[in-house]
Amino acid sequence: MADTNPSYRLALVTGGTRGIGAAISRALQAAGRRVVASYRNGHEQAARFRDDTGIETVSFDVADLEQTRVAMADLTSRFGPVSVLVNNAGIIRDIGLVRMERDTWDAVLDTNLGSAFNLCRLLLPAMREQRWGRIVNITSVNGQTGQFGQTHYAAAKAGLQGFTRSLALECARYGVTVNALAPGYVETEMLSELSSETMARVLSGIPVGRLGQPEEIAAGVAFLTADTSGFVTGSTLSINGGQYMS
Ligand code: NDP
Repeated sequence: MADTNPSYRLALVTGGTRGIGAAISRALQAAGRRVVASYRNGHEQAARFRDDTGIETVSFDVADLEQTRVAMADLTSRFGPVSVLVNNAGIIRDIGLVRMERDTWDAVLDTNLGSAFNLCRLLLPAMREQRWGRIVNITSVNGQTGQFGQTHYAAAKAGLQGFTRSLALECARYGVTVNALAPGYVETEMLSELSSETMARVLSGIPVGRLGQPEEIAAGVAFLTADTSGFVTGSTLSINGGQYMS
């Protein structure tokens, strides 16, 4: 369907003010979408991003259904229904399972996976009603392969891929596509948590021999959310420098 109706144009990118999400927000803006970028606590970064790009920002905790409900009610009353949703916000809290506390497990699952339930549950009815929508869930190569210290993160990201395929089936008849994008290691603040030894090991496992750039992930999201991508649904697009070939 042609993107001539303004109600089809609004895109929400969670975690969209920095890292991979900021590149996605910029790419969707360049593709002609009206973009709102969400974040949680990084108010100064969000203000700089808003000034640089003119992209609207909104702050709420994607892991919290009630906060998300209030934020989405406000957002849709100001800008109209969301037609493109990119579930990008995520956290890592690496630790071996035998030392992991239950609240760490819950935080990682709720932020990386529960957030997709919260946002899709709230925004999907309007997409189905419009008979047009694009949902992209940002997973991870570590959800495809497993990773030491990431039982919680890998479970959440692998779960998000199953969520994607199931929701794609539920949405297919309504013109709403649902896809996953699994990045490999990408140069953002998230990786600053890795030690130099871990980073050296990571680099040695990437066939192209370098980290990815946020813009290389954003280009994949632009493809999956394009008006011309209506036949692409339930897929996982891996952008990982050859680290894992699916
Ligand atoms: P960053 O840590 O750079 O940015 C994370 C973003 O998510 C921030 O905007 C942050 O908001 C937001 N966020 C985190 N928790 C919440 C929350 N509870 N509620 C709302 N917003 C939240 O991450 P990256 O850009 O590196 O990663 C983006 C996505 O890509 C994640 O899903 C990650 O798992 C995935 N990924 C990243 C890889 C990498 O190598 N970087 C590899 C594979 C996947 P605030 O600014 O307020 O903190």
